[in-house]
Amino acid sequence: MIDLEKLTSGNRRALAKAITLVESKLDSHREQAQGILNQLLPATGKSIRIGITGIPGVGKSTFIEAFGLYLIEQGKKVAVLAVDPSSPLRGGSILGDKTRMELLSREENAFIRPSPSEGALGGVAQKTRETMLLCEAAGYDVILVETVGVGQSEYEVAAMVDFFLVLMMPNAGDELQGIKRGIMELADALVINKADGESIRLAKQTQGHYQSAFHLMKTSSFWTPQVTTCSALKKDRIEEVWQMIESYQNAANECINAGISAFAEKRARQNSQWLKKLIQEMLELRLKQNPQVRQQLPELEAQVLNNQTTPYNAAQKIIDLL
Ligand code: GDP
Repeated sequence: MIDLEKLTSGNRRALAKAITLVESKLDSHREQAQGILNQLLPATGKSIRIGITGIPGVGKSTFIEAFGLYLIEQGKKVAVLAVDPSSPLRGGSILGDKTRMELLSREENAFIRPSPSEGALGGVAQKTRETMLLCEAAGYDVILVETVGVGQSEYEVAAMVDFFLVLMMPNAGDELQGIKRGIMELADALVINKADGESIRLAKQTQGHYQSAFHLMKTSSFWTPQVTTCSALKKDRIEEVWQMIESYQNAANECINAGISAFAEKRARQNSQWLKKLIQEMLELRLKQNPQVRQQLPELEAQVLNNQTTPYNAAQKIIDLL
């Protein structure tokens, strides 16, 4: 049994144990985890959730370490989670391993958790969402969710955070950055890292380039994505990045529509989209596991192929079996 009082009072062992249940493949563990999450739900939601992405080598771990240490200096507790899209074939995690953020991992007020491996329902993102809630209940003020922008992972992370930050290199132009279409629409900020030494000038140019790109885009009522520079290595302008996120949070909290702030509205929207996604996945799973469906599907498929019934009719028969 997990001592929830210990967990909410910040006991790291209790937190780690609960996360292990969330990540477990066993149905009994998953059920236990859901029970815990339900009980802890009132204690969640008080943190700021920040997604961080960028191509390999852009400086994600260097930045997260510098940023995390800065936040801890400000008296905050920081959790670092990861959504790692790496295939099991590549032999596990490419993100979030502790050795990458050695100084941060030694801090008492930091909690670093590597990416869960492949998850069943809802995938890795589901586990990370649940882990995020556990960390919030354990009193972490800032949750950083790191991902390397491969596949769908940056969309998944953007859909679970309040603020989505894209780290970039100081070389102007999308082609060089490996920037995928669509990433600009996800970003609440671009941070051009490695703005140090001889790269400062180039970083400033790149900043100007993206600033004008954002001004041409349609943005939300309270926030135009910002472009700024920093050096994670030299720990330069880290504070400015945090101030930018704070000003986003303030703007989102102050933008009230029909009695609900833009901040709360975004979280509510994310939750309801996630609910819908889970319903779909659960339905699919039920279908796959239903013995009558398994028995009748091949026959119905054959009927469709032989033009004996329409796909519509066959689909309806399958759904009626549930
Ligand atoms: P990741 O793959 O995105 O996690 O990138 P890393 O944090 O591992 O950094 C990749 C390389 O870039 C390392 O050699 C870092 O020392 C270097 N690096 C990271 N941030 C900076 C920076 O602000 N300035 C400079 N000059 N190098 C940096």
